[in-house]
Amino acid sequence: MNLDQADIVVVGGGIAGLATAHALNRRGYDVVLVEQRFLAFGASGRNSGGVWLQSMRSGAELSLAQNSLEALRHLEDELGPTFDYTASGGVFFYETEQQAQILADFAEDRRRLGLSAEKISADDARKMAPGVPESAIGAVYFADDAKLNTSKLVKGLGQLVRKLGVRIYENTPALSLIRSGNAVTGIRTMRGNIVAGGVVWCAGPWATNLDSEGVQLPLKLVRVGLLMTQPIRANLPAMTRGPLGARHLKPLTALPSYRDDAFSDPEPLPGKPGYEDVVVQGGEGNLYVGHTLDAANSLNPHITLESSRVMIDTILNRRPEYGELGVTGLWAGIVGSTPDELPIIDQVEGLYINTGHSAGAATGLYGGELMAQMVAGEDPGMPFEEFSLGRPSLNLGSNHLYATGSL
Ligand SMILES: Cc1cc2nc3c(=O)[nH]c(=O)nc-3n(C[C@H](O)[C@H](O)[C@H](O)COP(=O)(O)OP(=O)(O)OC[C@H]3O[C@@H](n4cnc5c(N)ncnc54)[C@H](O)[C@@H]3O)c2cc1C
Repeated sequence: MNLDQADIVVVGGGIAGLATAHALNRRGYDVVLVEQRFLAFGASGRNSGGVWLQSMRSGAELSLAQNSLEALRHLEDELGPTFDYTASGGVFFYETEQQAQILADFAEDRRRLGLSAEKISADDARKMAPGVPESAIGAVYFADDAKLNTSKLVKGLGQLVRKLGVRIYENTPALSLIRSGNAVTGIRTMRGNIVAGGVVWCAGPWATNLDSEGVQLPLKLVRVGLLMTQPIRANLPAMTRGPLGARHLKPLTALPSYRDDAFSDPEPLPGKPGYEDVVVQGGEGNLYVGHTLDAANSLNPHITLESSRVMIDTILNRRPEYGELGVTGLWAGIVGSTPDELPIIDQVEGLYINTGHSAGAATGLYGGELMAQMVAGEDPGMPFEEFSLGRPSLNLGSNHLYATGSL
């Protein structure tokens, strides 16, 4: 029995899926989208929404994020202020002279890329950004950083594309692909088949399940934790990054002056996780405190007590007065990223794939645009090779098998 038929069926109701559906719909395709649970069920509904241009590598990563930022601004014009988009920059504070010197080099490196990076006092950082501790001795302010609520964005895009004729089926997992020769001509779901001229797989970390279809993707999974407080009175719109876990920032660690021992890394679970040290004030005034990184290569989304403790200890050490705040959310989400941390936007064995967004709040919107360009056979806005499954930086080897490593 057929549930529906369309030009293209998109699998996955996160930012990658909705951006792809929207971009295809704009090109006149008849689109169906299926989501196994509900829109923004995955990482797109669980993140802190930072567009951290400050920590993007030059080249494809930064360009993808800058194009996405541009697309976000256009979308805000179209949807109105519905997804708490705020271009209020981000600060990176430091607590030692050694960190100050490395961050001065980091700022210089970022300025060479055309990003704004300005040294500010710790007092000024505390006035504009949440969670900057008394122990901070200074900060760098990156004016190009921005934030948004990706859950609201995904739901807003869902409403928009529904009005434009896209059929969205929630609680409808795609179970398998329908193939005809070399072509993928639809999907099987519990509610019936959806027949289509093409299928775009935007399933985030669950794209690893394509193994059963003979499509192996080089995705490593990490569980990212987040704590949300009730609103605070102050309006501190700039995002905060601190020095814990700085070893996860590739452009920083690539600097000749970088030293691991200048930045510590809390370890909530021995040997495995890390910390991405950010605090962001959400559109309703709440604080997002994060991010613990643990549970390599598991789809289990439950945050552990250990990871919760690390986030609570960190914020209480920094700002003891926040101890009075109610905790209104404590959760984790799974992120699937590639070895070079760029998404895969490609056609593989007849199946279109748009997955592997490790910073999808920053890269997801333009990723959808690129996917639609590929489906439509248009000239790409960015070189498709940079996001292909066969690119050398994925180190796939001759048989395209990926040996999953530790984080
Ligand atoms: C705590 C946390 C904080 C983060 N902070 C940031 C940040 O500050 N900045 C940033 O840029 N990024 C951040 N990220 C990462 C960002 O959230 C992700 O990169 C992004 O959401 C990935 O989007 P996606 O659409 O590719 O995947 P997802 O949002 O995971 O969406 C995939 C969807 O596919 C659905 N699906 C899977 N399999 C099937 C199937 N068989 N059939 C139907 N549907 C299916 C899933 O249910 C899911 O809804 C954070 C992530 C987390 C968890």
